[in-house]
Amino acid sequence: MHSGTTGLPRGGDQQPLSELNRSRVVEFLHRNGVCSRADIAHALGLTPAAITKITAKLIELGVISETGNLEGRLNRRALGLTLNHSKYRVIGVKFARSLVQIGVFDISGRQLSLIDLPPVIDSQISATVDHIRSIITDLLSQDSHIVAVGMSVPGPYLRHEGKIAVVTSMPGWTDICYTDEFSNAFPVPTFIEHDARSGALAESLFDPRVSSENIAYYLVGEGVGLGVMDHEQLINGERGAATEIGHISIDVNGRACKCGNFGCLECYCSAVAVHEELVKSHILDAEFPDIASMTHRDACKSLFAASSAGNKQAFELVSKISRYVGYGCVNIINAYNPQQIIIGDIMAQAGGVLLDIVYEVLQERIVPEILNSTEILLSTLTSDPTITGAAAAAANQFLRHPSLFARAT
Ligand SMILES: [Zn+2]
Repeated sequence: MHSGTTGLPRGGDQQPLSELNRSRVVEFLHRNGVCSRADIAHALGLTPAAITKITAKLIELGVISETGNLEGRLNRRALGLTLNHSKYRVIGVKFARSLVQIGVFDISGRQLSLIDLPPVIDSQISATVDHIRSIITDLLSQDSHIVAVGMSVPGPYLRHEGKIAVVTSMPGWTDICYTDEFSNAFPVPTFIEHDARSGALAESLFDPRVSSENIAYYLVGEGVGLGVMDHEQLINGERGAATEIGHISIDVNGRACKCGNFGCLECYCSAVAVHEELVKSHILDAEFPDIASMTHRDACKSLFAASSAGNKQAFELVSKISRYVGYGCVNIINAYNPQQIIIGDIMAQAGGVLLDIVYEVLQERIVPEILNSTEILLSTLTSDPTITGAAAAAANQFLRHPSLFARAT
């Protein structure tokens, strides 16, 4: 039984040594592409005998295969080895209020197909759950290369209960126990993860610029969330509600938030807050008369377009939001000291302006020695980070426990 991502051992020290070494080799090939046995042994500090044994087992399982000779070297240790990315696939499912998407990915994060479900109606959530199960069952029966299912859900996600604590505007989702509905529904393991933590896994696995073991994925979209990996381990907290940066107060006397706190970061820089401000301020009414009826995402995109085109008021609003995003970064650095913070989702589309202002805020407010060892990046994942993250939640388990999954032929 696999109850969310806690169903399998997560840390290196909890695994048998042989499986740990197999997963280190698989992860190394995932990050570095084609390598020889000698290259891998050197990088991971393995003896020639150990690398020979580990790679033989992985070839037997079909997880990796040999390519041609590298650099014309004529011995077996110079043969190229590659991870069979295309042979193993995972399903990613994104739950986001009224939107549910189901995609098939290879384990390098490449999206192979995508199904958009019709908009979910709050009173029909249980029918939607049945529909999701039947789509996944069909996909699995059509493709024996799919080895796991990953699901990404909005936070705060109480991982032991398998339930979401609060979902603004779609309260019906809080009645669903994800682990009861999905964990044992399919012939392959299912992993359920909080959306920002899925994003952290996606960045760690699929973005070659992200190389540190200490990273924070800072999701600034309809909600504001955070996934932190400290020495490669996700921080969850007692019930899975840790790292909720969106509900950190940046003004104790500020705006009232639905969580009960005041001045929560989410009240100032989420797409919902920005959209409200656009409607109230009327600054885009001339260019976008339908701004009030747009989706939050499209309203923000319109703001960024107007700002780039020279609308001064739009630029001022983008600058103001970017400062709030920066205050979030100040708290993330002081709380978790990540080496890399990756800003993703809707606000990342503001681009270089956002990044410049975030750095300005950090230079004003962070100890220079700490700031100098921190890098801020904008996410460049090509597909939606939440559904890619759902796939990453499954792919991460494959990379860490390759022999458990190696049954597709
Ligand atoms: Zn709050």
